[in-house]
Amino acid sequence: MATFRRPTRDIDRVFLHCSASDVSAHDDVSVMRDWHVNGNGWSDVGYHYFIRKDGKVQEGRPLEKTPAAQRGHNAGTIAICCHGLKVQNFTQAQYQSLVDLCGEINRAYDGEITFHGHCEVSRKACPVYPYQEVLGLDEEGYMNKEPNTSPSDQTDEVAADLPTLRLMARGESVRTLQSALRSKGHRVAVDGIFGRGTLEAVKSFQRSSGLSADGIVGARTWAALNA
Ligand SMILES: [Zn+2]
Repeated sequence: MATFRRPTRDIDRVFLHCSASDVSAHDDVSVMRDWHVNGNGWSDVGYHYFIRKDGKVQEGRPLEKTPAAQRGHNAGTIAICCHGLKVQNFTQAQYQSLVDLCGEINRAYDGEITFHGHCEVSRKACPVYPYQEVLGLDEEGYMNKEPNTSPSDQTDEVAADLPTLRLMARGESVRTLQSALRSKGHRVAVDGIFGRGTLEAVKSFQRSSGLSADGIVGARTWAALNA
């Protein structure tokens, strides 16, 4: 990535986003550009920077152009997107690149710039990663605290949100479980129903992870699935 240079337009805020995809084929700014240009009919990708899972920072829309990223809040901003959907799948390399890039922007503006999540100006859960902790933001969004590229409670937070699941459970959390099992190489349908097939997959996963194979998905099993 080239060194950050202040664009001539006035900037006072930086917004953070996530791509809402964990698909590795989407892990490139060219894919985002295709979505935004050919999908949305925009002139260019909406973000100025895209950060891949390997931490590589790619340039998107030229900094001189206003982003198309936060509806109603694009003027005077820079938009940065990290590739990812589930919080546990963002990488330390991405967080490090995000801290480096934002640190560079912050220095270019002598600390007179604030950093925000898209969620602060919309009802979207974007970005899903703990950007305030990662960047070391204070209450107003200034980079005044110590950044933390390995937020400690990331897995616990996710586990705490997920209910204990057993045979006959149904719903979105069962789908999440089934997708996680599949990503660990277990063959199971993602249908949101905790039936016999899911039970066998859970037990098999528990056995291979050194957990007691009781077929009940609690905090430990969730944590192992998210690891
Ligand atoms: Zn966003």
